[in-house]
Amino acid sequence: MAEAKDATAWVPARPTLRRLAEAVQDCRGCELWEDATQAVLSTGTREARLMLVGEQPGDREDREGEPFVGPAGRVLATALETAGIDPGETYLTNAVKHFRFERRGKRRIHEAPELRHLVACHPWLEAELTVVDPDVVVCLGASARGGYDEALAELVSDLRVAASA
Ligand code: SF4
Repeated sequence: MAEAKDATAWVPARPTLRRLAEAVQDCRGCELWEDATQAVLSTGTREARLMLVGEQPGDREDREGEPFVGPAGRVLATALETAGIDPGETYLTNAVKHFRFERRGKRRIHEAPELRHLVACHPWLEAELTVVDPDVVVCLGASARGGYDEALAELVSDLRVAASA
């Protein structure tokens, strides 16, 4: 079988958040699934008006299957509280659904995804955007750098992107 160029073949034709969360576990749209424990889709409901897009799951997220449960999640929780934003009204996801890392002994050290990983994984984010249809999308941290916000704007029309580091 020819190597897939992105996740398109694995994204359900009629997506719901539940279907996406199930289907993403089978994705082979790039090589990052090979070493990860599992794919991590998102947390939040389709009623959320604010979508926050991080870079990728971290070590703890990879093990637990939930986004933003590690150190970055604690920072985000504090930031939301400070900003007066109800976490229950946000949809949290990542641009890349599998954890990319480098092994050093027993440790797994975060390795930033390349733009090709972000592009390969984009069909999942596009499906999430279709289901949730948020008013505002905020790219967090590394996902807001390295040209991803431009790639996102190119790939998704009618989208307002606010970048936050
Ligand atoms: S990182 Fe994204 S495109 Fe790559 S295998 Fe995982 S879900 Fe698929």
